[in-house]
Amino acid sequence: MTAHTIDGLALSRQLRSALAQRAAALTARGHQPGLAVILVGEDPASAIYVRNKIRACQDNGLRSVLEKYTANLSQAALLERIAALNADPGVHGILVQMPLPKHIDPHRVIEAIASTKDVDGYSVLSAGALLAGLDGFRPCTPYGCMKLIESTGQAIAGRHAVIVGRSQTVGKPMALLLLQANATVTLCHSATPDLGYHTRQADIVVAAVGRARMLTAEMVKPGAIVIDVGINRQADGKLCGDVDFDRVKQVAGWITPVPGGVGPMTITMLLVNTMQATERSAANP
Ligand code: NDP
Repeated sequence: MTAHTIDGLALSRQLRSALAQRAAALTARGHQPGLAVILVGEDPASAIYVRNKIRACQDNGLRSVLEKYTANLSQAALLERIAALNADPGVHGILVQMPLPKHIDPHRVIEAIASTKDVDGYSVLSAGALLAGLDGFRPCTPYGCMKLIESTGQAIAGRHAVIVGRSQTVGKPMALLLLQANATVTLCHSATPDLGYHTRQADIVVAAVGRARMLTAEMVKPGAIVIDVGINRQADGKLCGDVDFDRVKQVAGWITPVPGGVGPMTITMLLVNTMQATERSAANP
């Protein structure tokens, strides 16, 4: 068996063209969606992520504001900027690119963002809404993974989903979203003995660890949907995922590539959340 490749770029293009239409309609009514992105420091990977987010806004009719600061920016100054953006009616979403320099507490920063503008979905309120099954911003990466899984046309309800990695931003919200879709969910982490025992039972596997090709073909059930969140830079400078793509492709039913799978969908869902924030703000000015 050779798996179908789930093309995250193609799905992103499709979703973004619908988003561009929504953005144009909002702009015509005087509510152009606006995203503010704050980058502190000179981390090269963060600079690339931010550039891609800004470009996605520009390409789809959203207004973007990029605020760049040197790594010695004080926490107080950053909180002040967030307060100003919270009060700016032309800004509907605020994203602070992580990681922040060590002297800044990321939790203080995330919680300073107005809940109506938390388009990354990282705040305690957004996490609580997800846990409670209430409306709210879903964290972009797991939200994008759900769209990729749904794009296979396979049922999620009643299937066994195994997630590897339990971070606050990917693994845990992924588990909640799959649970909400009525999957039976197993969440694995670094203290899980015999990881393969769990992944081999999975109809859906989501790998979100950050270890190159750690999910091997022997760990995958034939026909499974395999979603690779990992981004790992190899010695030759190229990117690879957490899944041994070439071999797992021979076993799985569906698989996402790296790059071109989850990455573009993460940015697309950021646009979706910003659009949602704008539509809410336009309905309740
Ligand atoms: P974290 O480092 O926050 O979390 C990694 C998770 O993997 C932890 O829960 C950890 O367990 C678990 N883990 C580590 N080693 C093992 C192991 N041997 N077996 C099982 N579980 C293990 O990472 P993130 O969730 O932030 O990101 C994961 C990957 O996804 C990274 O490569 C990151 O770059 C990528 N990423 C990609 C995005 C995209 O848009 N494509 C967006 C966000 C992240 P424990 O909790 O026990 O330590």
